[in-house]
Parts: sequence; structure tokens; C-alpha cells
Amino acid sequence: MIYRFCSLCSAELAENKEGNLGCTRCSFVNYRNPRPTATALVLHNNKLLLTKRAREPFKNWWDLPGGFLHRNETPDVGALRELKEETGLDIKIIKQFGIYTGTYPSDTEPFDIISIVYVAESPTANLGAYDDVCESRWFSKQEIPSEIAFDSNQTIIKDFLKVWN
Ligand SMILES: [Zn+2]
Repeated sequence: MIYRFCSLCSAELAENKEGNLGCTRCSFVNYRNPRPTATALVLHNNKLLLTKRAREPFKNWWDLPGGFLHRNETPDVGALRELKEETGLDIKIIKQFGIYTGTYPSDTEPFDIISIVYVAESPTANLGAYDDVCESRWFSKQEIPSEIAFDSNQTIIKDFLKVWN
């Protein structure tokens, strides 16, 4: 575990029955529940947008665009923001695709994530690659790589391939 001491009173933390780290002296709790992310299945001319990761974990792996929600941010707004930041696209959300769980690997402490996934359309094929993305590309159904970053995204892609015409 990464946090050993209370950030309020410096006493030791101990794992409680919910898997959180509670202070052994005061009421502080370091919550370790899943962290929410927004992910988008973006289509243009029936091709799916994948982004290549510029950083670890999964550096240089193809990934679904998206990311962690900011404080006070709704998932749909988070998806729009992430797509703009990573690719420059102003996507249009069509519908919610599903909610998925997974693990975010980390050298210090891997943690659980919940991905809220949208189906979206892009008005243009013109792509950029910014922020934590080093390349972005449109893939036909036949071109989708067999290995995608993150266990949750593997499942999302597998489910999407079943309904993608
Ligand atoms: Zn404390």
C-alpha cells in the first residue's frame, strides 16, 4: 500500500474491512474505491478512433480515448473534454454504451476503475495527437489490433465488435 500515515494527524493507517485505509487515531479515511473514467467509442465513416499511449502504463499501446473525470465533472462532459485534449476533436455523443470495471496498473499501488463508455461521432476525419497521446488513427472493424491497453478496454472493444456493423 502506498499511504502509511494519516495526512491529518500522522498516526499509522490500517486497512479496514471495506479495503480502505483508516487512521488508527482519528476519523480520517483514505478511500480506495474505484475511480471513475469516461471513455468514447468514436466513429467516423464507420471507422473507430484509437489513440496510442505516449506514457506508461501501456506506453505505445493502442487505447480507447478517454480518461479520469475531474472533480465536479459529469461523465459526458469528461468524455468531450478528453477527446478535445487528446485529439482536438469536437465529438457528438450518440448514446451510452455501458459501464465497465477494470484495473489501472501502477508500480506503487494498482487501483480499480469504473469506465462510463459512450458511442460518439466525429464530424471530421482530421485528427491530432496531444497530451498523453502520441498517435491517433481511424480503424476499420478488420483493422482493430488484438491487444488494446487496459483490461477494461479489451472487454469494451470485444463487446463493441459484436454489435458493430
Ligand atoms: Zn489521523
